[in-house]
Parts: sequence; structure tokens; C-alpha cells
Amino acid sequence: MRRAGAAALAFGLLALGGVPGLQAAEKHEGYAEFQRGDALIVDGQRVRVGARTRFKGSATRDLSRIPLGYEVKVTGTRLGDGTLLADELEAKPNGSALFESDLVESFNQTEKQYRDEGAVFEEDDEGERVELGRLEESGRAVRRVRSIVERLCPPYLTPGDFRVYVVDNKDWNAMAAPNRSIYVYSGLLNEMNDDEVAIVLGHELSHATHEHSRKGYKKQILVMLGSAAVAGAAEEIDGTGKRLGVQLGALLLGSALTSGYGRDQEDQADRVGLRYAYEAGYDVEQGPTLWERFAKKYGDDNKAVNFFFGDHSVAKDRARNLRRELDLNYR
Ligand SMILES: [Zn+2]
Repeated sequence: MRRAGAAALAFGLLALGGVPGLQAAEKHEGYAEFQRGDALIVDGQRVRVGARTRFKGSATRDLSRIPLGYEVKVTGTRLGDGTLLADELEAKPNGSALFESDLVESFNQTEKQYRDEGAVFEEDDEGERVELGRLEESGRAVRRVRSIVERLCPPYLTPGDFRVYVVDNKDWNAMAAPNRSIYVYSGLLNEMNDDEVAIVLGHELSHATHEHSRKGYKKQILVMLGSAAVAGAAEEIDGTGKRLGVQLGALLLGSALTSGYGRDQEDQADRVGLRYAYEAGYDVEQGPTLWERFAKKYGDDNKAVNFFFGDHSVAKDRARNLRRELDLNYR
């Protein structure tokens, strides 16, 4: 069985080798999230290894021995069945990252503020407080979201660690913060079925599990710390970092709710989120039509919406990427 597989693999490589340029090497970075047969799921992709795969870090030839939750970097070539054959694979424990605890602390403070006030709000350009909606902590809608999140949660995390809130707002919006608090607008819940909600929440959860806030935050804070150092306050950098952390946490939670993340991070959240929904047993074939629904609702005006939809100018690209994901990984 194994021998036959290896032979088929070698044949596949030869065939691909005979058509130069047809299969470009692909690079994926993420976490070991699911084990499926002899494949390890990273960045939503089914990764396999072969005789020529080079291993780095704690990676072993037996992918099932890489603990779920490990950080994985893989460069590989796509095979005919949509799996990714690794040329090089690196795995290492997901250690605590720069500013991670500061960021979680600042999101905790923001969450507490929302709960104290019973509402979610942001600051507009003039620093004026704008209420986005009343915060619901219990009731049918909250229970519905919680049961979907519990199914979506990847196996290396504890579903009970996530705190779920519904925001009374008719827009279609949702957000998962790095401190594991999740906010979903009632408009989205009222107008979507569970499969659609799961695809949207899978996308949002991926932003949290892949630390997209921290990565954006790290860039911003390093710029700000850089200017503090230039101003000759190098000895105060530690304190400055903490203070800035608290301010930026609130800022980022607001900005993620209203403007989303960078393009690469959105694309990754689309890939990984689809995987979460699929593994949880939801119908991911509804993904493309969900996109069309968003385009219909938000595509013609300039209103900024976050997350799944993001910038409507790239909606077509993202719908195309989603179809490619379905072809490669789920058919
Ligand atoms: Zn997003």
C-alpha cells in the first residue's frame, strides 16, 4: 500500500517535472491544526511529505507526531489531488510572542468596559464615542453562536475558553479578539443560516488563532517604540511599550470591527476559516454564494464593513480564491 503510494507520488513528480512552470512552489505558514490520514492540515491545506522532503526544527517524517498547535512553515508543490507535497517543512512549539500578553491584557480591559457599559462602541475621527450596539451576554442568539463556536474550535484549543457576545446592530459583522472574546452582530444572525454563520465565524476565529492582531500591533508598536528611542528615552521603552499596548489594544479592537485586517491576513482567514467550518461538519459549498450575498448588500456603497467581506474592490478576487479552495481541498 505504502510502496504503491510512493511510486504514484514519484510518477506524479516526474510528470510535473516534465511541464516546467506549471506548478509553482507554494509557501504556507500556520499551525498544525488537524491530522487527516497521512496529511497534516496547515493554513487550511492538506500537507504531505515524501522521500525528498527536508525537515527543520521539531518536524519529523511522521507528521502525526507533530503536536497540534505547533507553528509550521511549509514550502511545497501542489499534487493532482490538491494536496501539498512538502519540499521543506519546519515545525516548532508555539511559544509566547512579543507583546502577546500586553495585547491580551488590553483586550481584556476593553471587553470589561463593554460589559460594564452594556454596549460596544468605538471612537470616531474626532475622538467622539459612537455606540455600535447594545451587548447581549445571554439568550437564544448567544446560545446559538456559542454552539457554533464550540464546533468550530480547532482541537488544540478549549472551546469553553471563548466568551461569546451578540451586538444589537442590523449590519452583518463579527469579530474574534485575541483574548478569546467573540462579538457577532444580530443582523448577521437574523439573516443567515448556521452554515453561513459558521463560515463567517470560522474566518473570524482564524484571525484570532493566527494572531493577526498581534502581528499588526507588533508593527505599529515597534514604529512607536522606535520614535521613543530616537527621542532619547531608551530607558523608558519598557514602560512606554506597556502604556502604548493598552491604548493600541482598544484602538485595534475598534479598527478590526470597522475596517478589517490586511489583504494577506484576510486571504489566510478565508482559507483557514473554510477549513474550520468543513471540519465542524458545515456545508462549505455555501461559501461562494455567501460572498455574493455580501457583495449584493455592501458592494454598491462605500460603507466600510470588516471581516469576511472587507474591501469590496477585492471581493471578486476573494470569491475566486474561495472557489479554488473548494476545488483543491474539499471535492
Ligand atoms: Zn477578516
